[in-house]
Amino acid sequence: MLGTPTYSGPRFRVRSPHVDERGMEEQNMILNALPPDSYARLRPHLETRVMRLHDELWSSMQPMTHVYFPRSFVGSILIPLQAETPQVEAATVGREGFLGTPIVLGADSSVSNAIAQIAGDGGAIEASKLRELLATDSALLAQCLRYAHTLQEQTAQSVACNSRHALEERCAKWLLMTHDRVGRDEFTLLQIFLAFMLGVHRPRVTVAAGMLQSAGLISYQRGTIRIVDRAGLEAASCECYAVVREAHTRMLSSPR
Ligand SMILES: [Zn+2]
Repeated sequence: MLGTPTYSGPRFRVRSPHVDERGMEEQNMILNALPPDSYARLRPHLETRVMRLHDELWSSMQPMTHVYFPRSFVGSILIPLQAETPQVEAATVGREGFLGTPIVLGADSSVSNAIAQIAGDGGAIEASKLRELLATDSALLAQCLRYAHTLQEQTAQSVACNSRHALEERCAKWLLMTHDRVGRDEFTLLQIFLAFMLGVHRPRVTVAAGMLQSAGLISYQRGTIRIVDRAGLEAASCECYAVVREAHTRMLSSPR
């Protein structure tokens, strides 16, 4: 709803104490927040993966082979429903988190599907190797569990959001969350993916995105979204954007 109080805190920022073998700063914030010795143990097992749009990370009820730590790609956890398309998004995960919390929580599969919704790269570690490291590294385990809790809160917030908040508010929220994760004003997003994210059919997405575009908050042409007025988009979003971002900020700043 227009006029909702805005959140003026910082966007996700990367201030990495860790660098990789090429001298590049670590861009994933969960890895970034690890103590140096935990990061040093994990880093050799992280393989860089370039994710293209719609690459599959896991599929429903199939064994999860890897856990993914996005650096620039953004993943989406989707719930498939029989005879229902599009699928419904349960959570968006970018460099503030990782994809594969069931592995940390002792499971090896999920009812969800996960895909890359924004192309980019990230680190992938074999699920069995991560389990091995978690068994002997309490700081790594604590950090992964804190994130699993935050992701659960994000998912719970989505339940309330999807049932009570207007489509254009949810569309603004999703664009802000993605803007934070990709760290640039322009990104590619096909309308079908926006339909996944919002759990509605494409014609309704066209109307919602059109309203935000008419208000001068975004431009949307041929699958490319540009954030034009960030503050205006925050004012157009429901409260859920600020709630979820503050939960991530708390998680990342909590004591190790
Ligand atoms: Zn909401």
